[in-house]
Parts: sequence; structure tokens; C-alpha cells
Amino acid sequence: MATHCPYCALQCGTLLGREHGAVTVRPSAFPVNSGRLCQKGWTAPSVLSAPDRLRAPRVRDGDGRPRPAGWDEALDLVAERLRAVRAEHGADAVAVFGGGGLTNEKAYLLGKFARLALGTSQIDYNGRFCMSSAAAAANAAFGVDRGLPFPVTDLGAAEVILLAGANPAETMPPLMRHLDHADLVVVDPRRTRTAERAALHLQPAPGTDLALALGLLHIAVAEGHLDKEYVAERTTGFDAVWSRAAAWWPERAERVTGVPAAEQYEAVRALARARRAYVLTGRGVEQHSKGTDTAAAFVNLALALGLPGRRGSGYGTLTGQGNGQGGREHGQKTDQLPGYRSITDPEARARVAKVWGVDPGSLPGPGRSAYELLDALGTEGGPRALLVFGSNPVVSAPRAAHVTERLAALDLLVVADFVPSETAAMADVVLPVAQWAEEEGTMTSLEGRVLRRRALLPPPAGVRTDLEVLHGLAVRLGEPGHRYPTDPRAVFDELRAASAGGRADYSGITYDRLEAGEALHWPCPRTSGAPHPGTPRLFLDRFAHPDGRARFAAVDHREPAEPVTADRPLYATTGRVLAQYQSGAQTRRVPELNEAAGEVFVQVHPDTAERFGLEEGQLALVSSARGGTVARVRLDGTLRTDTVFLPFHFPGRGRANLLTRPALDPVSRMPEFKVCAVRVEPWAEP
Ligand code: SF4
Repeated sequence: MATHCPYCALQCGTLLGREHGAVTVRPSAFPVNSGRLCQKGWTAPSVLSAPDRLRAPRVRDGDGRPRPAGWDEALDLVAERLRAVRAEHGADAVAVFGGGGLTNEKAYLLGKFARLALGTSQIDYNGRFCMSSAAAAANAAFGVDRGLPFPVTDLGAAEVILLAGANPAETMPPLMRHLDHADLVVVDPRRTRTAERAALHLQPAPGTDLALALGLLHIAVAEGHLDKEYVAERTTGFDAVWSRAAAWWPERAERVTGVPAAEQYEAVRALARARRAYVLTGRGVEQHSKGTDTAAAFVNLALALGLPGRRGSGYGTLTGQGNGQGGREHGQKTDQLPGYRSITDPEARARVAKVWGVDPGSLPGPGRSAYELLDALGTEGGPRALLVFGSNPVVSAPRAAHVTERLAALDLLVVADFVPSETAAMADVVLPVAQWAEEEGTMTSLEGRVLRRRALLPPPAGVRTDLEVLHGLAVRLGEPGHRYPTDPRAVFDELRAASAGGRADYSGITYDRLEAGEALHWPCPRTSGAPHPGTPRLFLDRFAHPDGRARFAAVDHREPAEPVTADRPLYATTGRVLAQYQSGAQTRRVPELNEAAGEVFVQVHPDTAERFGLEEGQLALVSSARGGTVARVRLDGTLRTDTVFLPFHFPGRGRANLLTRPALDPVSRMPEFKVCAVRVEPWAEP
């Protein structure tokens, strides 16, 4: 049976089968992976039968101990306590936290449930931690944000690709076959597996990529590579950008970033020489208190070279989570309604309210962004109850110890998940839900292609789908049941209607067309005549702003929110490893993946290790102003001497996010995961 991998945004095609009662997986000929999977994809069936898989609701009794419960008891209890919180503290005292791995149908129904059944403005999701900065930059520049505004397969014909803050050789290895024909210019403080395959590796200090992008733009203009015709005909705002970039001559950029001027020249000349070139960005660019401006600076570079909207060239972002793209389009983001519309736009509110059969005035406005929502839990005026779907903020949120404290301060924490994640372990009520190979639905991949997720087998006894959970809760909260269909196809049809005319228009996409194997990339509006073919390539004729032009953004460098000090003299940066995914709640339950990467480590340059008395393999305490992480030292001579690296997939005292600082980007509200000040010292068990 053809479906897609449950993990990252590449959404590799898979063929599922059953042998001797076990689920088997092999790669399909789907164009993004054509016969390849990474370690995570090959082992994905393990999570279906994880020994600690949740198979019955759990409720916490008066003595604080969780016990199994029936579905009616659990849902009745949740509804009763939600009503009580609402009655005492108001609708915004109930909050919802969603996830970028939820199907389009779940993301849509969750947003509707929050606004109608709960009447709360307090809904956001973990995608805010993932690629909200590039989304904000792309929306401002192009008028719409689709991670890759072209098919992945277009990358295979590129001559040069600049990859800034992205490490697909580890995070989505099958993508590399599309990149390997090109000369790669990789921008990353670490010599990652992707950087090892690059023709040129620029290694800036953490938090300085914006200065580097300004320096590259300066060289592009100074050396005569500005595409004047393209800039005049297809863009606005270049002069204001140049008035800032003019001051970022290469030696100045070198002083701030540490990247030699000669390497900056080499990077720009390679891009400018190529007939087909791309600029791609990832989390390394985005997860900063200036992530939107940094992504915008790389967009500026691409625009100056005339790449976006040119066939065979372009700018794009490598989305991370499985439905990172669709997850942000259908209304689980606090500031948005389905169709990727602004919740403050009166026309959008009227449109969606009509589909939902309610008065536009009854829809709440925007609430808190993800970290701000978590930070407010249990505080005066903040949410008193939280429902979590498809997320594990105890591990994945910044300043994790504080977030854990806030969760503990709630009157009610409800978690819907299929494994007992660290967040589920804290919950008053845990609701066991179906997972990827047990449910129907759709996902939208990083290239904006809508894909069918198919069920090979039914959920285990005692397990329900998220749609059934939302239906059950909504009805108990007094909503008419028909507003919350449990059939994914019915939810998708409603989502299509709600998205019609929006930036992400799905109205012409149907389950039948997807079943027939059509490759449909949004926007795909409903038509009265021949069906719309979808839009694999955006911007070929015009950008999505009313005047059809792309916008340069006048941005400038600023320092990371937390400078290093004598007491904390190193930068810590966080990221991913091949064998683990996000908070690790799924992949840490796969023995083969744990064998490959089962514990947190801190990567340290040997000179830094000598300076701080550290040895390979010993435990070290990495401390920031937020707290300390205990990790095993891994020496790496390719790292910068001022930087250490920790993966963020691990729980307990190994949580890298115990260190991170929630300095938020002013536009995207993305926390600064990629840089904070730390010290590292040997650690011994007390
Ligand atoms: Fe799954 Fe992503 Fe690996 Fe493909 S690259 S197999 S989608 S985790």
C-alpha cells in the first residue's frame, strides 16, 4: 500500500506491507526519494508496536497517580474540567498546543475546535519553533510562503546551490541525490555531513549569518553581478537594501563572522557564474532572535542575482516537520485562519465564518505565540488548562526547565499522543491516538505537494483518531456533532471550501484526484471547467503581491541576544542528528536508532577541550543562565573553537533546551535556539 514516511517534510514515498503479522516498509518510486529512505524511514514501523504504546486513556486520580480509564470517563472528565476552568477564568483560560506533524485534516479541525468549541484565542503550535521565520520573510518578499516554490526534482539540474543553515545530508538524506550534481556552497558554523560534501564551506560564528548575507550581497553588487533588468522589472526596494549592504564590505563581514573575505568572493562568484542556481535556507538561519531578518537577507541575495521566479533557479526553505507546510496553513497558528489567511483580516474572517456557519464576530482574534503561550501557563491572566496534540514541549521548547514548571502549574493538562512522551508523563489526562499507518489523511510536503496518507491497519483496540477525540470533546462541550466530522475526507472537503480564495488554496484538490495519482501542488483553485492542474512552480510570471513584484527587505545585522562572557565564554548551538527526529518521542523508541545515536553529546573542538579540561567520552556539564545539561564529550577538530554543539532530541538532564534562551524574533516569534552563551566543565555523578 502506497503512503508516505511519518517523519520529515520530504515525505518520502513508501510501500507498506505485512509479513508474519509485522508491518514492512520499502521505498517507492516517488520522485523525491525514488527508491531511497533514511534510517528513520526504514525503521518507522517499529513505533507502531512500541512496547509502551498507549492503548487506553489514563487519568490522574486525587493521589496524583495515573490509572487506565474508559474513553467516556476520560472525555467526560476533560469536558467537565474545561467547563469549570472556562466558567471561573474565561474562554482564554483554555489553551491548545498543536504540532507540525499533524495531518492537514487534524490541523484544520484543531483550529476550528479551539475557536468554536472552546472559544479561545489561545492556540498555537510547535511549527512556531520550526520555520516561522522563513515563512515571515517569504510572505513579505514574495506575497506567499511555500517552502520550495518549485518541485524538489528541479534542484537536480542546478549548477550551484547555496545552502545556509541546513544539513540535509543528516536531516533528509534522500534529498542529497538532487543536490549532489551541483557545486554546494554550505554556510554553517559546523562542518556537518552536508558541509563535507560541499565545494566550499563558509563557517561563520553562530548568530552572524545575517552579517555574512549582507557581505555576500555587497560583493554581488560591487562586482557587477546585480541583475539590473530583473531588479527593475520584478522587484521593489533595492535602493534601501543597498544603502545598508553598501557598508558591509567583505573585510567588515569577515571581522564579524570570521569567514575570510576570499571565501565570500568565491561563494558569490560561483553563484553568479551559474546559469541555474538556488539559495536554500534552513533552521540555522531561522532559529534566532533576528531569524526573519536573516532569512530576508538571503532572499535579498537571491533577488539581487535574479534567481526567484526564474525557471531552473530560485530561493526556497527546507521545511522540517512532516507537515510543517500544511500545518501552518489551516488555522492552528494563532494569527491565522484556514487558507493561510490572517485572522485579523475582516474578509478572511467572514469567509471562514460562513463555512463554519457562525457569526464572524464570534471568532476570537489572535492569541499568544507558542513560547509566550507556554510561558503564561498557570500565571495570573494566563491559561489554566492546556490541550496538547502532536507535540512534546517538555523536550522541544526553549528554556525547558521553565516550560516544565509552567506545565506543572496548570489546573489541567491533557495530552493526545500515541506514546508516553515526556509531556504526556506530566498530564492529568492522556488520550491514546492513532498514528501514521493507522489513519487516513493528507500531508503537504516541503514542495507544497498534497499527499495522501493511507491506513494499512486499524488503530489498536482502545485507541481513537485525533478527529474522533475532537468530535467527542466538542459534543460534550455543547457543539453540534456535524461540525466536527470524524471522516478525514469530509474534513478535507470542508478545509477545501474554507481555503478557497486564500493564499494556500486547496479548493480544487480532492481525495479522488489524489487517489488517481495526480501531483497537485497548491494553489489549486476549484474551477468550473477543466480541473486546475495545481502549481508546481510559483512566481514564473509574477510574485503574489498585488503589483506582481517581489520586495527587498532593508535589514541589518545585530548581535545575538546573549553575548559570551568571561563566565560563559562559548557559544552553544543546537540541532539534529540523522537517527533521531524532533523531540525523539518516536525515534527514541526504535532500538536500531538508539543504537546509532542513543544519548546526548556535546561536540567540542580539541583545543577547547584542552582549555576546559575535557576528554573524549567523559561526561560534561554544559551550563547557561537557564540551567545545565549533562552530555558526553565528543571531540571534533572541524568545529569552531568558540562553539559547542548539542542535539536536542534527548530527555531529562540531557535536554539541550535546558540551555536555550527564549529571546523571540519580533516578527515570527521564533525563539533563539541556535545560539546562547555557555561554559563547559567536567562532570561527575554526585
Ligand atoms: Fe522519512 Fe524524511 Fe528520512 Fe525520507 S528523509 S525517510 S521522509 S525521515
